[in-house]
Amino acid sequence: MARENFIGGQWAAARSGATDEVLNPATGEVLDVVASSDATDADAAVDAAAEAFESWSRTTPRERSEKLLALADAVEANLDELKRLEMENVGKPVSIIDFEFDLTVDNLRFFAGAARTMQAQAAGEYLEDHTSMLRRDPLGVCVGIAPWNYPLNMAIWKLGPALATGNTFILKPSELTPLTALKLAEIAADIYPAGVFNVVTGQGETAGDALVRNPKVAMVSITGDVNTGKLIARNAAESLKRVHLELGGKAPVVVFDDADIETLVATLAEASYYNSGQDCTAPCRVIAGPGVYDDVVANLASAVGELVTGDPNDENTAVGPVISADQQARVADMVSRAVEAGAEAVIGGSTLDRPGFFYQPTVVANPGQDAEIVQREVFGPVVTVQRFADEDQALAWANGVDYGLAASVWTNDVGRAMRMSSRLMFGTVWVNDHIPIVSEFPHGGFKQSGYGKDMSMYALEHYTELKHVMVKI
Ligand code: NAD
Repeated sequence: MARENFIGGQWAAARSGATDEVLNPATGEVLDVVASSDATDADAAVDAAAEAFESWSRTTPRERSEKLLALADAVEANLDELKRLEMENVGKPVSIIDFEFDLTVDNLRFFAGAARTMQAQAAGEYLEDHTSMLRRDPLGVCVGIAPWNYPLNMAIWKLGPALATGNTFILKPSELTPLTALKLAEIAADIYPAGVFNVVTGQGETAGDALVRNPKVAMVSITGDVNTGKLIARNAAESLKRVHLELGGKAPVVVFDDADIETLVATLAEASYYNSGQDCTAPCRVIAGPGVYDDVVANLASAVGELVTGDPNDENTAVGPVISADQQARVADMVSRAVEAGAEAVIGGSTLDRPGFFYQPTVVANPGQDAEIVQREVFGPVVTVQRFADEDQALAWANGVDYGLAASVWTNDVGRAMRMSSRLMFGTVWVNDHIPIVSEFPHGGFKQSGYGKDMSMYALEHYTELKHVMVKI
């Protein structure tokens, strides 16, 4: 029997009876079958969430905080199963799975704490005989639309601030990776009142689209592709709902000649290929100085050659499959086109001859700044390396893409690190590192990587509306 939606505290099959198959990308085999929802199911979830909002929005920050802490504990108690589901459904190697889940639990506990510390300007008499005060009120029904690369973690980034601030919530996981979302619903069922947290599975164009267009939904937060974000922003505009867009990235790694190349290469060999490179902040676009370019290419190729790619269950595996046959073909085609255009695949450059959707960890040297592989997100285990002539060119190339999510600068010159950090048009800039994130600091984009922030107090602010209450005294 297909897994069902979780709506208003009840499990329910898609009303049409339609289902979607869910695959294991490491084998290509069907792992499970879930409800393929349409507008009828989406609208039922919105009605349930709208009804629950009436009482949930009147709970105190303390109550909401305690529920999130209980959810964090329950997630922790179910970690083994959640990790197994994510490994099977996304193909994540056992060697990398712990980090992501540690962050997920910490994110929940951060949101629980933050729920009790919302800030605003001091109340007072800003006009004679009138007291002004600010409220931060919840918006209503919020929808979180999640991608497939970190299915549970991205869901928590949306659910946490939404529920912490008194909204009710509907999660629409990716059609490729709905299993941990459904497990989360099972876990949350004992914690939240009916209708506060709902899960609707199905395709983006049907289930997702219906949620985006429903006028009773106050806010949609999506993590996904840039084109999906643009479409959602357009469709949400019909009812002028708030939209939060966490979209793609193409992170530059600007390496000056004075950088510590050993640390750089060790960081890239891990971070660029982590999650098979399917990470919106992945350090995938190295821009290296003239004095270190050759060493960076040679040493990175050598380190990448050591990465074990294959069975996610094997402790030695560093790189698992990509998510789907489509994604595998997309990665392969982009690398082929880069090589045809004159770049060199110094290591990797082909699919693996085994079941499942594997692609070799790859380094592509010397593509042009205008090349597709430099300008477009590959979202696979592929790193490009370009040689810059001077700091101005490095900065121009780093900023010379549509994306603006994350970047890193590698140098021992503090002044240059600060200069570059201020001029790089990206939502996160690391100096002499690339990838770590913490719950207390925001994650989000500049330019076409979207707007709105995940994690941190800024995420909580986004899920509330400021209200000025003025009292004649
Ligand atoms: P995607 O855009 O294909 O799908 C994302 C979600 O949107 C899915 O749940 C999908 O069903 C839904 N969707 C698709 N069309 C829709 C529509 N018309 N209306 C409503 N919902 C719709 O993205 P993906 O392939 O799942 O994820 C990979 C992308 O996510 C990459 O571009 C990556 O960079 C991005 N990403 C960004 C961040 C970030 O924080 N900025 C984090 C992780 C992933």
